[in-house]
Amino acid sequence: MDPQNTSRKRIAVIPGDGIGQEVIPQALKVIRAAGADVEFSEFDWGADRYLRDGMTVPPDGFAMLSRDFDAVFAGAFGDPRVKTNIHAKEILLGMRFQMDLYANVRPVRLLDATLCPLKDVAPKDVDFVVIRENTEGVYIDAGGVFKQGTPDEIAIQEDINTRKGVERIIRYAFEYCERHKKLDGSPRKRVLMCDKSNAMTHAGGLWQRVFKEVAGEFPQIAAQHMYVDALCMQMVRDPRAFDVIVTNNMFGDIITDLAAGLQGGLGMAASGNIHPGKTSMFEPVHGSAPPIAGKNIANPFGAILTAAMMLGHLELTKEAEKIESAVLAAVLQKKTTQDMGGTLGTREAGEWVAERAST
Ligand code: ATP
Repeated sequence: MDPQNTSRKRIAVIPGDGIGQEVIPQALKVIRAAGADVEFSEFDWGADRYLRDGMTVPPDGFAMLSRDFDAVFAGAFGDPRVKTNIHAKEILLGMRFQMDLYANVRPVRLLDATLCPLKDVAPKDVDFVVIRENTEGVYIDAGGVFKQGTPDEIAIQEDINTRKGVERIIRYAFEYCERHKKLDGSPRKRVLMCDKSNAMTHAGGLWQRVFKEVAGEFPQIAAQHMYVDALCMQMVRDPRAFDVIVTNNMFGDIITDLAAGLQGGLGMAASGNIHPGKTSMFEPVHGSAPPIAGKNIANPFGAILTAAMMLGHLELTKEAEKIESAVLAAVLQKKTTQDMGGTLGTREAGEWVAERAST
């Protein structure tokens, strides 16, 4: 590290498992090509390391990331050799929970109409953002089983929602709406809260009350609500209906996979795990995809767009825009991997975008 250079951003890179190890190097290549003043430090946390010496995260790991880096860039975690998936849980959920990265931000943008499975949908029709609560809900894994393996077995999975957690994610969504524009440059104007408060009345009631309160602080932004089941139908019937969506951990996980389908599949989707003012973590939405790992066929664009999102967060706006334009050019010219109808391999697609981003 160069302590003299204070503007240079320090990025911790954790490629992880499976296709994470293939797509992250491509994204790093593109970041360098775009001329971003960054310094990478790579960490080998993942299945190989866990199988070698049992380590998932070193004792000081999360504190070190928060202390020594401006951002974390992660690939994917999950390996069929680790049946319990314990390493993935400890690394990924560990970062989200212990670094308190409470806002999972997933932009959903259609770069080219041919990528969308819906008919008569143009890129301008799919341009929304899902803000998912990232530190609470059922993902805390609170609960337990009783009389396991018997006919009387009971399994309880708790859904934890705190006033503080709900309020900060809803406020983040309104502030995000205020600050961010759509791809065509027009302002964002609506925040929609998605829940299942007709069935889950306790947690839903809290979300409803807090949403109304916080919405009152942002009179210029339209506050809307939908039940999660209705939202799923609406998303495939008319994605134009959405602008900024805020929801809990589990619904956010589910609807963002559906949303990824609208923009060309998991291989295209980017995400950030953010706590304003603290070291945040950026990762493509897709997992380690074991069936396609090691074949040079994984789509690197989700990781590359995630890199652009990270640079934007670090206020390297010019470099972020260069990368986004280069990916758009690749999509329009079909310089893509097979999942998007192209013929290029992971490395070749990354190379093409890097070349383009360097100009
Ligand atoms: P996780 O539970 O970790 O989110 P998952 O099992 O839900 O992972 P992925 O590992 O993301 O899902 O992948 C599921 C399938 O989607 C893959 O087997 C692959 O066919 C496709 N896929 C995912 N990411 C990509 C990519 N980058 N390029 C091409 N195909 C992909």
